[in-house]
Amino acid sequence: MSERAAPFHCPYCADEDLRPHEAGHGAWECGACNRAFQLKFLGLLARGVQPTSSGESQI
Ligand SMILES: [Zn+2]
Repeated sequence: MSERAAPFHCPYCADEDLRPHEAGHGAWECGACNRAFQLKFLGLLARGVQPTSSGESQI
């Protein structure tokens, strides 16, 4: 379960021509703009899960 979902769009040019980069885990390269980038998991948000049924959201 270490496999992460692949990004669908390049964050720089929004193209879909993405492929895994040889730099390793979470690294992707874009065939359209020739950029390489890395996705990094920063941690869980402290606010937790918001209930969707309530009308207002209070933070
Ligand atoms: Zn791109």
